[in-house]
Amino acid sequence: MKLKTLKVIVLKHKKEVAELITDYRKQGKSIGFVPTMGALHEGHLSLMRKCKRDNAIAVASIFVNPTQFNDKNDLKNYPRTFDADAAKFESEGCDVIFAPEVDEMYPEPDSRVFELGMLDKVMEGAHRPGHFNGVCQVVTKLFDIVMPDKAYFGEKDFQQLAVIKYIVKQFNYPIQIIPCPIIREPDGLAMSSRNMLLEPVIRKNAPLISTTLFKAVELKNNLDVKELKKWVINSVDSNEYLKTEYFDIVDDSTLLSVDNWNSSSGLIGCIAVKAGAIRLIDNIRFI
Ligand code: AMP
Repeated sequence: MKLKTLKVIVLKHKKEVAELITDYRKQGKSIGFVPTMGALHEGHLSLMRKCKRDNAIAVASIFVNPTQFNDKNDLKNYPRTFDADAAKFESEGCDVIFAPEVDEMYPEPDSRVFELGMLDKVMEGAHRPGHFNGVCQVVTKLFDIVMPDKAYFGEKDFQQLAVIKYIVKQFNYPIQIIPCPIIREPDGLAMSSRNMLLEPVIRKNAPLISTTLFKAVELKNNLDVKELKKWVINSVDSNEYLKTEYFDIVDDSTLLSVDNWNSSSGLIGCIAVKAGAIRLIDNIRFI
């Protein structure tokens, strides 16, 4: 049997990536970048499509970053499907995939601590200690290697997007951060690499998370913020397979909780839910 050879260039070493990017730069080509942890779905591919449309060269990374996992089992069980991922990215026109081993990214432990103000004290930051510090460690390393003009991040991870925008400003990275909308399954569940880990019965019940958020937007004119927060938690928790870890309505730039619909011109509702053993997040815009 003839093995299918990939057109996309797959590199494991940062030096090779940096050299290739320098070549592209000399040719005056713009570089777009899509960082991922693999186990790709339509959400990731939507980022790649946008990246490919906007830039001469589209670079992706596939790296399950150990420093952003606060739960050892989550890291161990995180799906790894490299061959299928490479084929998917290639079919979207991705030019280069950087897929390093852990030692390549962390030849020695990364001791850097990122000061993120309140951004990592709330919601995911409060429930996953060290998570955003790990995200900053890996994203700054990846930015330093790839040095893209534009980098694409999903609004599915709304808090992560806020953190990345913040560090880009803090460190003056000459990189434009491009937010991309949440892609959902036909039944409304936000796509996630972790969805494939859900037991069938839990997968069947999980869309209650998004249907609750959609309904919450409709209820906005009838309930105050506090009542609506309660309503969302009760709705999700009424299902025997789901347990809300938090739901909050926050300012879309500070991520601070609000208690009044007039508190800000941008309000997002963010939720984290335990669906059996799997933790899912989602969010919805109210204003
Ligand atoms: P991950 O592989 O989970 O680290 O995600 C890589 C990138 O894909 C991040 O910027 C995510 O926000 C984005 N992403 C993940 N799921 C979705 C989705 N359902 N819709 C849009 N973007 C997504």
